[in-house]
Amino acid sequence: MKFDYEVLIVGGGPGGLTAALTLGRIHRTALLCDDNHPRNLPSAHVNNFPSHDGIHPAEWRRLARKDLEKYPSISPFHGTVSYIEKLTDGFRAELSSGTSVVVKKIILAYGVKDRMLPISGFQELWGKAIFHCPFCHGYEIRGSRLGMLVKNGFAFHSLPLIESLASNLVVFTDGGHPFSSEQLEVLARKNITVIQQKISSFTYSDERLQAVVLENGTSIDRDYLFYAAEFPFIQKSSLGEKLGCEVNEFGLYKINERGGTTVRGVYACGDSVAMAQSVLLSCASGVLAGSGVIFELLSSH
Ligand SMILES: Cc1cc2nc3c(=O)[nH]c(=O)nc-3n(C[C@H](O)[C@H](O)[C@H](O)COP(=O)(O)OP(=O)(O)OC[C@H]3O[C@@H](n4cnc5c(N)ncnc54)[C@H](O)[C@@H]3O)c2cc1C
Repeated sequence: MKFDYEVLIVGGGPGGLTAALTLGRIHRTALLCDDNHPRNLPSAHVNNFPSHDGIHPAEWRRLARKDLEKYPSISPFHGTVSYIEKLTDGFRAELSSGTSVVVKKIILAYGVKDRMLPISGFQELWGKAIFHCPFCHGYEIRGSRLGMLVKNGFAFHSLPLIESLASNLVVFTDGGHPFSSEQLEVLARKNITVIQQKISSFTYSDERLQAVVLENGTSIDRDYLFYAAEFPFIQKSSLGEKLGCEVNEFGLYKINERGGTTVRGVYACGDSVAMAQSVLLSCASGVLAGSGVIFELLSSH
């Protein structure tokens, strides 16, 4: 069998870029495919990343791509991987350019998609005044009037984080009942208001949140809102599912300690595999998947 590349990397965000770097350093050939829809696109900063804390996400990716120019075995492709099939030996993938490539191994690095709630103002404010992660965005907005939109009880553990940053915290459930009676008691003891009515809109001006408006017409002034992730996560592509890669209860690919999925020869990294999701952690799992592939390639020599 003639292979075009040893590895196909689907996704050139932090996970895929770092997997490519790892492969490049052992001089393995890889096609790094990216169609430029990174998860943090709405955001102006990558925070909590040592050496480049606060850098613009596009600049971070540009620098990471520039690092790869040093490694001639890594080829970039700007476009989508639309189809992958397993062959007896390796895989054949179709690209949006109309060409197809045959590779030995696959790394899925396409990340996850955020759910945009069908509430007026939500999408417009996402990444600007509505955030998912206090580690990414908390410091800049400390001391503000914060809201937290909670759809599942899992978010209870992150409430102390948000509370510690807020001058005043209001929890919204948008008509849901995510908390147990014990959890509601804890919130009441801490004087945290829990509003269970459905939300009709977020009012804003110049990408700044003004108020959360409830269906009964009540308006609650807030400066910023955190929206805790809902499960299962939505993978950005169904390529892994079609290959037969199993997911766990959170919708994340099941992987072993070297990033290998449940399908032999298919690895995964980044947000697609991790409950704790960040640029740095995606880079770390990109190293694992890249090195996992290298060990498998070399062991079959
Ligand atoms: C609003 C917001 C702000 C954030 N801020 C921070 C922050 O400040 N600090 C921090 O550490 N983390 C932050 N994060 C989290 C961070 O963005 C993610 O953890 C990280 O980007 C995940 O990296 P990834 O490589 O797994 O996926 P992504 O960055 O999403 O990259 C995946 C890439 O794969 C591509 N792709 C998908 N399908 C295909 C396909 N079929 N073919 C080709 N390419 C494909 C996509 O276009 C995309 O470019 C933020 C997230 C959000 C939503």
